[in-house]
Amino acid sequence: MEYDAGTHSLKCPKCQHGMEEVTHEGVAIDRCTHCKGMWFDGDEAHRLKDLKDGHLLDIGDPKDGWKWDSHADIKCPHCGKQMEKASDSKQKHIWYEVCPDHGMFMDAGEFKDFKFESLLDRFRSLIKGNRANIAP
Ligand SMILES: [Zn+2]
Ligand SMILES: [Zn+2]
Repeated sequence: MEYDAGTHSLKCPKCQHGMEEVTHEGVAIDRCTHCKGMWFDGDEAHRLKDLKDGHLLDIGDPKDGWKWDSHADIKCPHCGKQMEKASDSKQKHIWYEVCPDHGMFMDAGEFKDFKFESLLDRFRSLIKGNRANIAP
């Protein structure tokens, strides 16, 4: 949907369409009505990650997200400064855009990845831990 200041909470930094506010258990984020990318203020991404069903807000198709992933040069929707590309310290394949002052942007599907990969990682280390316990 074309961005309209009266209807939308933010203008998508990636595709310039309107973003709408969506809430899950008290964490409100902005999601693009077009590319389904998600904007997180401050530490909202981590707060949402800790909620069991937080990934339900990430409704986009990862295939669409990847299409947009190449549009790396985006500007912060709040201050207009060029955002920095950053990768998750634990999951290097996940790239997102960060404004140090305002928050971060993830493409459709990236948040799910962000959330579940880490569960998988935690699971892996659990298995490793168990093995260490039963090892002679
Ligand atoms: Zn968008
Ligand atoms: Zn900013």
